[in-house]
Amino acid sequence: MTVQLPLPSAKIAQAIAGYGDEFVALRRKLHSQPELAYKEQKTSKIVADYLEGWGYEVARNVGVTGVVGTLRNGSGERRLGIRADMDALPILEATGLPYASTTPGVMHACGHDGHTSILLAAARHLAETHAFSGTLRVIFQPAEENGGGAQTMINDGLFERFPVDAVFGLHNWPGVPAGQFGFLSGPAMASVDLVIIRVVGKGGHGAKPHQTVDPVVASASLVMALQSIVSRNVDPLEMVVVTVGSIHGGIAPNVIPDSIELQLTVRTFNDAVREQVKARIIALAEAHAQGYGATAEVKYPSGYPALVNHPQETEFARQVALRHFGTDRVEQDFRPITASEDFAFMLKERPGSYLFIGNGDSADLHSPLYNFNDAILSEAARYWVALAQDYLSASDEPPASGTPLEALTP
Ligand code: ZN
Repeated sequence: MTVQLPLPSAKIAQAIAGYGDEFVALRRKLHSQPELAYKEQKTSKIVADYLEGWGYEVARNVGVTGVVGTLRNGSGERRLGIRADMDALPILEATGLPYASTTPGVMHACGHDGHTSILLAAARHLAETHAFSGTLRVIFQPAEENGGGAQTMINDGLFERFPVDAVFGLHNWPGVPAGQFGFLSGPAMASVDLVIIRVVGKGGHGAKPHQTVDPVVASASLVMALQSIVSRNVDPLEMVVVTVGSIHGGIAPNVIPDSIELQLTVRTFNDAVREQVKARIIALAEAHAQGYGATAEVKYPSGYPALVNHPQETEFARQVALRHFGTDRVEQDFRPITASEDFAFMLKERPGSYLFIGNGDSADLHSPLYNFNDAILSEAARYWVALAQDYLSASDEPPASGTPLEALTP
C-alpha cells in the first residue's frame, strides 16, 4: 500500500483557500471595469493600495501606470521578480456574464484580470507568512496587448531601480485542462512585426492598361513571392509565419488604381531569422514593384521580439510545479506558440521564464466570449507562493516551506 505524502505546498493551498472568494470577487470586479493600455488608472490604484496595506514598499507610475511592490525578509541576498499584466482589449464583450464589462468596447478578453488577481493573492500570502529570505518584487505592468508596457517599465528604470536576479510571469491558456502547467525552455512565443507595403503605380482606364503602371498586378505577384521566404530562404527547421492579412486598393472594376496597400504580420522565433525575413520582405517588395515599373514604400515598425525562456530558470520553474503539484499536473508536450507577448522584453534584460496554466475548455483568448477560469486562480497563486519560497530559500536560510507555515495549521 502506498502512503500519499502531502505536497509541500499543501499548507499554502489551505491558507489561500482561507481567503475564500475574496480574490475571485476582485477578479470579477476588475473584469467589470477593464482599462486599455496605459489607462489602467483604477486597476493600478487597487493593486498599489492592496500592496501598501500588506506592508509592501510600493512604487507607482513606473512606466506610466505600472506598479512595483517590494517585500524584504531575512538575510537572503537573492532578489526575485514576478510579473502580472493589467490591461484589457478593445473588444465588445459578448459573454453576458453578470460581471461583464461596464465599458462598451473594452474587455478583459485575455485574462489579465485573472493574472493580476493571482499575483495579488500570492503577494498577500507571502506578506502574511514572510516564509522566505531575500527580496520579493511583484511587478504589475501596463499595456501588454499593445504599446509594449514591459519595455516602457524597463525604459523607466525598472531593473535598475528594482533589481532582480530572475523574473517570472505566467499566462492562462484556453484549450489546456484547467490548472495544468506548461513549460518551454528556449523560444516559446513568436516575435510579431507589422509590415505595411504601399505599391505605387500610375492609375488609369481599365480598358487602357498600356497607359498605366498597374499596382494590382505588381501586388498580386508580390503576395505570391512573399510566400517563398518561408519555403526558400529560411532554414526549414525554423518556425516562421508570413501572412498577408489585408490588401486594399481600387474602387471600380474598370479603373486601375494608383496604389495598393498590403498589410502583413510576421512571426519568428529568433532575432537572426527575424532580421533575415525583414531583409527579404523589403528586397522582394522593392524588386517586384520595380519589375513592373512601380515603386514600393515599406514601413516596418518594430513589434515584440520572440519570447525566449532561459533554460536554468525554466527548469527551476518546472521543478517547482513537479514538487508542489505532482507529475501529472505538468504537461509533457507543451508546444511553442505563434502568438506574441511583451514579457519577451523583460527576458532580454534578466534571466527568467514565462509559463502557462491551463484555462480549461474556454473560448479562445481575444474572443468576445472568453472568460478567465476562476477555478485556477488559487492554484496559480499557490504556484507563485511556492516558487517565491523555493527561489528565496535557496541561499543561506533553511527551506522556506519549514516552520513559518506551521502557524497556518488550524
Ligand atoms: Zn494576454
